[in-house]
Amino acid sequence: MATHDHHHHHDHAHRRGGGGYRFCPRCAGPLAPRTLKDNEPRRLVCEKCSFIFYQDPKVVAGTICTLDRGVVLLRRGIEPAMGKWVFPGGYVDRGESTTEAAVRETREESRLEVVTRSLLGVYSYPGSPNVIIVYVADVVGGTLAAGDESTEAGTFPLSRIPWDDLAFPSTVEALKEFVRLCGAGEIC
Ligand SMILES: [Zn+2]
Repeated sequence: MATHDHHHHHDHAHRRGGGGYRFCPRCAGPLAPRTLKDNEPRRLVCEKCSFIFYQDPKVVAGTICTLDRGVVLLRRGIEPAMGKWVFPGGYVDRGESTTEAAVRETREESRLEVVTRSLLGVYSYPGSPNVIIVYVADVVGGTLAAGDESTEAGTFPLSRIPWDDLAFPSTVEALKEFVRLCGAGEIC
């Protein structure tokens, strides 16, 4: 059992990652991985002041919107997945609502003004810190252009979505759901 537990915790620590953090953000003492509860991953704990450095998930919010009957996608100009296509989105700031973040990121990345209409889906994956919240949105202003972090902006009819050139698993899953809902006549 001890061996099993060891592997279990090691896997958790590896999958969740230590984030490369070595020093306590409160007192600058050394951080070390500690098992605090048997059924939880190991936590980084300060050896001087016992501060527990929880490594929380990161929340991403994005939108899928259409313009001229095509889905708005951006070609990423930064790693990861540089050169691949993704819908507008980015990290939610602390204190910001997820819909505000989705609208803001869409404005920054595509220069489009949108309003969110409905929740399309929430996507998360073992081993990834990101929780991705995707909204269906309507364009209400702006002019489509590649903004922050993208090199190209485009609109893709549902029959021509670049499935083999999409950035992330969440990009594929959200677009599949969008296409499914459109086919069912529910959103477009
Ligand atoms: Zn400390």
